Amino acid sequence: MKIICVGRNYVAHAKELNNEIPTEPVLFMKPDSALLRNNDPFYIPEWSNDLHYECEIIVRINRLGKSIEKKFAHRYYDEIGLGIDFTARDVQNKLKDKGLPWEISKAFDHSAVICSEFVSIDALPDRNSIHFRLDKNGHTVQEGDSSLMIFPIDDIITHVSKYFTLKIGDLIYTGTPAGVGPVLVGDRLEGYLEGQKKFDFRVK
Ligand code: ZN
Repeated sequence: MKIICVGRNYVAHAKELNNEIPTEPVLFMKPDSALLRNNDPFYIPEWSNDLHYECEIIVRINRLGKSIEKKFAHRYYDEIGLGIDFTARDVQNKLKDKGLPWEISKAFDHSAVICSEFVSIDALPDRNSIHFRLDKNGHTVQEGDSSLMIFPIDDIITHVSKYFTLKIGDLIYTGTPAGVGPVLVGDRLEGYLEGQKKFDFRVK
C-alpha cells in the first residue's frame, strides 16, 4: 500500500506557512514504514528541533482505480479516518529553501499516525462537511471541517489517480487546517472526528 498526502489544502493553513494558495493539489508520499498505529507513543527523532503535528482526515481506498472521473470518485472509498502527518518543520524549511524534495522531513519512520477504527461514510451526519479537531494536553489546537478544503476529497481522488493507480488499502491524508505547531516530550495528543475520539497517544 501507499500513503498519498495533500499539502496546503486549507487556505488558512497555507497562509500561516506563507505559502501560495495552490491551483492544483500539492502531493507527496510516505512509505508504509511511516505508519504509527494503536495509540503507540511517538518518539521525536533526534535530528529535528522543530517537530510539528498536522491533524488530517484520512481516506481509505476500497477499489482499484486509474484516471477516475470526478462523478465516480465517491465510489472509491466508504470509510474515513483521522491521523497526524508529523513534519520536521526545520528540516522541511531547509530543503524547501534549497529547492530540494522534502521527503525526509515528511516520510520518516512513524510520521503517519493513523486511528485504529475508521468511520463509515454512511454514518457521518454530512459527507461533505466532516468536522474534526486535535487537542494537545487538553487544549484544542486545531479544528477543521472538510467543507473548507480547497480540493474536496473527490477532486483529490481524480487528481491523484491521473498519476498513480489507486489500490485497495491505499491511504490519502487530505491536508491540515490552520493551527499547526510543535510537539515536545511529554505532550498528549487526542484527535476527534465528529466528536468521537479516534486517537490518544503520548510524545516521547
Ligand atoms: Zn499535512
